[in-house]
Amino acid sequence: MKKVFLLLIACCFAHAEVGDNIKSYELGEAEFMAIKDKDTNMGKSILLEPDAKIVKDVMPDDQNPSSINAFILKTKDKIILIDTGLGSSGELLQNLNSANIKPENIDIVLLTHMHADHIGGLVDSKNEKIFSKAVVYAADKELEYWLSDLPVNKANIDLAKTVKNVYEDSFKTFVWNENITLEIKALEAAGHTPGHTVFEITSKNEKILVIGDLIHSLKVQTADPKMSVTFDINPKQAADTRVKIFNQITKENMKIAGMHLPFSGIGYMSKDVNSSYKFTASDK
Ligand SMILES: [Zn+2]
Repeated sequence: MKKVFLLLIACCFAHAEVGDNIKSYELGEAEFMAIKDKDTNMGKSILLEPDAKIVKDVMPDDQNPSSINAFILKTKDKIILIDTGLGSSGELLQNLNSANIKPENIDIVLLTHMHADHIGGLVDSKNEKIFSKAVVYAADKELEYWLSDLPVNKANIDLAKTVKNVYEDSFKTFVWNENITLEIKALEAAGHTPGHTVFEITSKNEKILVIGDLIHSLKVQTADPKMSVTFDINPKQAADTRVKIFNQITKENMKIAGMHLPFSGIGYMSKDVNSSYKFTASDK
């Protein structure tokens, strides 16, 4: 009896731990998983020209619990990872391991864009490949931007050049509106970065839109999608893109997955009063 009881406790604890960092969803004939890299909390300091009244109303405590998320799509013949987190300061690899996904079994890595918190996990501390057989994809405009010799963001540029070199011919580019696999279509979402991309994933009439870094501050940017953040390279374009995609996802009631929404990052957006929006997390 005692043994059974202990086993039960161990089992529950194991599940609780996995559930905090890994969440699995059915998507038609595929499996879609959220994998946490790290918890974050960046308050109003990340907002660009914030509307003080809105910030006070929706985030009076200056708390913005959010996350760095990556997503896995498992189809019948491929494992696809979308974004790779921070690398050594994140926990993506441990959490993939808990989900029984080995880095060497990942076939494709898709990048929404090439900021360090999305490409850091591609290489280890010795600058060697983490995903040994994967083909890595970014938008052509994104790679072009980070490979040009810009006077800003030096550390990020160095990292982008490193991952491109390390993956050599396995680093490829796509153009917007291209289907990368049967299920995944890359769509333009520029502004946050010049090649920022959202991925529309469809399997047997079920759809999810991976929105990348369209949202960093859930409370504030759903209250006012025109508000951009300091990480947006072109803040005006980022705001226009956010408004356009918010309209589309609410009109089509499309499930979304966000890289910086609180884990699991998956849910639905609905239109609220006064041209604001409401995000509702989804458990299935
Ligand atoms: Zn990011």
